Amino acid sequence: MAENFYCECCGKKYSNVRDLTSNSCSKSPTKKHVLYEGSEKKQYTCKLCGKMYSNLVDLTSNSCSKSPTKKHVPAR
Ligand SMILES: [Zn+2]
Ligand SMILES: [Zn+2]
Repeated sequence: MAENFYCECCGKKYSNVRDLTSNSCSKSPTKKHVLYEGSEKKQYTCKLCGKMYSNLVDLTSNSCSKSPTKKHVPAR
């Protein structure tokens, strides 16, 4: 069973956590990918505004009106 790991800042997908953490992230304030700790879903919801997206790339590339950082934060 293949499981994928996603960055919650940019939505990039990796097949293992080591690759995710060793690559740099263009959207993260720390320049490092942040592991999304939720499971893979059909719909991802922003926990700040409740907006739903079908994937994390769309969620992270849109701006959030309720977030202090203007970025959606995926609920787990
Ligand atoms: Zn990232
Ligand atoms: Zn949002």
